[in-house]
Amino acid sequence: MTGSVEGGGWRHGVELAGLTTLRLGGPAGHYFEADSEQTLIAAIRDAEGHGEPLLILGGGSNLVVADEGYPGTVVKVGIRGLTAQDGLLSVAAGEVWDEVVARSVAEGLAGIECLSGIPGLAGATPIQNVGAYGQDVSQTVVMVDAYDRATGTMTVLDRGDCKFSYRHSAFKGNARYVVTAVHFQLEDLGGLSKPVRFRDVAEALGVEIGARAPLAEVREAVLAQRRGRGMLLDEADHDTWSAGSFFTNPILTPDQHAEFERRCAAGAADGAAPPTGYGEADGRVKISAAWLIEHAGFGKGYGSGQVALSTKHTLALTNRGGATTSELVKLAAEVRDGVAARFGVTLVPEPVFADPLTW
Ligand SMILES: Cc1cc2nc3c(=O)[nH]c(=O)nc-3n(C[C@H](O)[C@H](O)[C@H](O)COP(=O)(O)OP(=O)(O)OC[C@H]3O[C@@H](n4cnc5c(N)ncnc54)[C@H](O)[C@@H]3O)c2cc1C
Repeated sequence: MTGSVEGGGWRHGVELAGLTTLRLGGPAGHYFEADSEQTLIAAIRDAEGHGEPLLILGGGSNLVVADEGYPGTVVKVGIRGLTAQDGLLSVAAGEVWDEVVARSVAEGLAGIECLSGIPGLAGATPIQNVGAYGQDVSQTVVMVDAYDRATGTMTVLDRGDCKFSYRHSAFKGNARYVVTAVHFQLEDLGGLSKPVRFRDVAEALGVEIGARAPLAEVREAVLAQRRGRGMLLDEADHDTWSAGSFFTNPILTPDQHAEFERRCAAGAADGAAPPTGYGEADGRVKISAAWLIEHAGFGKGYGSGQVALSTKHTLALTNRGGATTSELVKLAAEVRDGVAARFGVTLVPEPVFADPLTW
């Protein structure tokens, strides 16, 4: 690698463990921090010119990197900038997401307040259609600016092009687009939030589900919920040394759902009633991955050595300090296989596994 990008931040021997919230992963082959669109594109072209695999890195909060590291070029997106006009919040990809949410709340703009406290950078939010507590970014993203590696040009994708669905989009598992900015259309509702959809948040605020509440109070209620579940980053709390939820909630076809209920009736969950499913528009049913994990015998804190389920939330796999990625993947496979054997449901990981790590 030449490191030929002007003004570039090429670094060598960078350990990716220091750049992921799991604190796992070996060295990057080459590493570049891009603080502008121009240097980002130049670094990508440089890697492509050398035939190197490319990993785009945000805050490393949804990424699992092998102990051996990444055998190619890692480009960290550090482009900053944010403007707000008539409710349109235009955010450069390298802005810290929670600071963006805090700014929207301070400006009295509703639409992303329930996404408070999610780690990572703004540019990654469209990748898996980040969501929590009844909101996801598909509700507010109107445009995404991206570098299209297939054509070598900058492009603008509208909401339809993004093909958002539950924890998925046109970007996830597709290295074609590198997001440089995201545009959110938010609403001025006189300081109030969008309708509160999540029961625990509504209860904490003392409002009915579907009611609005002051934006700042909604943000604080969400942050408190997240803190209690170990879903707010905290250096001192190993329950937060994670990639957030490790598995998505499975969406079952009617046949799969009937088989799941049959197994529960036959005692697979030790007598527990199956969880209430959430009906999708296409007739499929979404069920709770956390429930499946718990009722397959993997309680909070389950694990051995230096990896374990969070003591606050069964969905998070955590590094207790000194863990390796191979230990983490082994625990994840044990949980996946245990759930499949008990309930006939295959869990799918939510974080991205950087090549050459396989699942
Ligand atoms: C404690 C904790 C709680 C979490 N809670 C939630 C939650 O409630 N809801 C939720 O949805 N997620 C949650 N997550 C997951 C994670 O925070 C989000 O997915 C976040 O958007 C990832 O951002 P990042 O910048 O860290 O991305 P990274 O982890 O750096 O990257 C993730 C993926 O996106 C790609 N990528 C990153 N930036 C770009 C870009 N600019 N262009 C193209 N590709 C890019 C990467 O190549 C990689 O494939 C949580 C994680 C943790 C650790």
